[in-house]
Parts: sequence; C-alpha cells; structure tokens
Amino acid sequence: MNEPRVGVMAMQGAFIEHCRSLEECGCRAVEVRWPQQLDEVDGLIIPGGESTTIGKLLELYGFPSVIKEKIQAGMPVYGTCAGLILLAQDIVESDQPRLGMMDISVLRNGYGRQVDSFEAELDIEALGEPPFRGVFIRAPLITRVGPGVRVLGSFDGAPVVAREGNLLVSSFHPELTGDVRLHRYFVEMVTGK
Ligand code: GLN
Repeated sequence: MNEPRVGVMAMQGAFIEHCRSLEECGCRAVEVRWPQQLDEVDGLIIPGGESTTIGKLLELYGFPSVIKEKIQAGMPVYGTCAGLILLAQDIVESDQPRLGMMDISVLRNGYGRQVDSFEAELDIEALGEPPFRGVFIRAPLITRVGPGVRVLGSFDGAPVVAREGNLLVSSFHPELTGDVRLHRYFVEMVTGK
C-alpha cells in the first residue's frame, strides 16, 4: 500500500489533531463527513468529543450501517474516548445511539468528577519504551472486556487500550501529546504490517 488513506470522522470533536498525527505517520488523512467517503479510505478514526452528539450526527447522516458493513469486511477502525464509547456493545445505563461493534462494556465519565481530566504515564508493551502519556478528558471507564478482546494497556487496574481484531480503542486522547506511536500502531493495522 503506497500512501494509506485514513478517514477521521469530522462531525464533532478532536478530529484536526488526529489528521495531523496521521500525516506525521505518512498517511493521507481524510476528514469524513459523508458515508460515500468511506469507500475511499483504508481505515477510520472516530475521535473524542461528546458521544451522544457524535452518535446522533452519525445516524442523521446515515453512517451506522455503512461503518458496520466496513468493519465486518475488515476495515480497521480506531475509537478514542467518545469514539470508544460509540464502538462499545454495552454502555452502562445508556440507550444512546451507537455502533456497538466491540465486545466491551463502558461507563461514561467513569473516572469520577474530581478527576474529570488528568494525565498518566502508561506502559503499553506494543509501543515499547518510554511510557505513553495518556490524556484523559472526562474519559470512559472500560468495565468489561469479552474473551476476544486483547488488553494492550491498563491504568489503575482497568483496560485503557484494547484491540479486538480490526477494532482498536483507547479511553484517552493520543492525538494531544505529539507522540504518534499509537497512531503508527493503528496505521500498521491498516497497512497489514
Ligand atoms: N465524556 C464524553 C462522552 O461521554 C467523552 C469525552 C471525550 O471524548 N473526551 O461522550
């Protein structure tokens, strides 16, 4: 694959920073606003933001069935923060719109009010040394992972980066630190390296 094209859902939230990180990894980043654009990308990032808003907009523009089809056909998708929430099969005490493709349960804002936002050094074996600085902003807490889910990194006893086949999620924002190792990991999922 020459220059992989990776889409970033650009409805709401932190999409510009993801595009920059992807370009630093040698990808063409595509801001996705219409379902037809998904035919032109090899992978997709669903950014952080407000999962209820992004979920409603996805439905409004007719995205869910197309994204689900692409995931089933093997397209790699990476959800960060609100994007993780949208990929989760189970959102604790919520019936908000979702894609529901990954066998995890998640609690929105699960890290508590007093620590609404914080940063932490994370050991993620797949990324090597040094530890990865995770920026958690009203982050979701992964409360359950299914048997097919591989936990790539944890914090405080809970998974914070996980992968199930072609799906990758992180409860923190990797696009705000300037460290592109997690984007590079995802790009390798896209290029099949
Ligand atoms: N708290 C937000 C939600 O529930 C997610 C926050 C984020 O994406 N940084 O949708």
